[in-house]
Amino acid sequence: MRVVTKITDIQAELIEEKKNGKSIGFVPTMGFLHEGHISLIKQARNNNDIVVLSIFVNPLQFGPNEDYDKYPRDFDRDQMLAKEAGVDVLFYPTVVEMYGATKTVAVHVEDRTDVLCGKSRPGHFDGVATVLTKLINITMPTRAYFGLKDAQQVAVVEGLIHDFHFPIELVGVDIKRDEDGLALSSRNVNLTKEERQEAPHLHRSLLKVKKAICEGVPIAEAVEMEKAKLESQLSGSIDYYELLSYPELKQPDSTSKRLIVALAVFYKSVRLIDNEIFDLQ
Ligand code: AMP
Repeated sequence: MRVVTKITDIQAELIEEKKNGKSIGFVPTMGFLHEGHISLIKQARNNNDIVVLSIFVNPLQFGPNEDYDKYPRDFDRDQMLAKEAGVDVLFYPTVVEMYGATKTVAVHVEDRTDVLCGKSRPGHFDGVATVLTKLINITMPTRAYFGLKDAQQVAVVEGLIHDFHFPIELVGVDIKRDEDGLALSSRNVNLTKEERQEAPHLHRSLLKVKKAICEGVPIAEAVEMEKAKLESQLSGSIDYYELLSYPELKQPDSTSKRLIVALAVFYKSVRLIDNEIFDLQ
């Protein structure tokens, strides 16, 4: 595995690989790798000649009062895990390398961001779309891998790839969970012991909404009931608890076939997100 920090170096290397007909699987991350990231890397490994992993904590997607400084980082450990998982090229740029001193152009997302995380984190998805536009142009992948843990991000990236005509395939990968159901996240290390103990309630609650809706309970009723129950079980506070069509992220109607029920919870130093996507029969 090679670690590359310069944009021109990785571009030159990957242009050469593409000239030789090699397919490139790209997995963008912010590091502090866990089994969720590893499942993306493994899927990329199975379906591509070259696997490129990026580790970059993107300041553009953090709001002024968010956890950019507290975001966990451990590059030595990440390097070991990436190598073990079969990464060929690890792209690890600095903020200056990615953004330089001046900024002329940024990407603004027009749709799918007025709900869920986009609503409570203004500008977040513009930051995500801007860095991904850069990373896709830098790595020129055949396929890019994203976790459905960040289902709204997958919906936004689908729009980005479609609207900007990136000739790449988007692969959405299922959520990896701990044995008790908590979705794996780099941020879980910042939960207190008590918060970690109650956190599995998030996923249990989502599963109950899904079951109720599949059994014919009206959507608003199912969500309100489980939201109230969850509120009483948590020391954290619920940021949002919503049910929408997926991937459009609109209020569902009689034509909606695929739905997402998603929530975010604020704890002292962490905000957790989780979701379930399911099809109506
Ligand atoms: P992050 O480093 O948190 O930006 O995540 C990098 C990629 O890994 C994103 O596409 C995430 O959706 C994905 N990811 C993070 N956690 C999980 C998980 N528990 N299961 C599957 N994918 C995940």
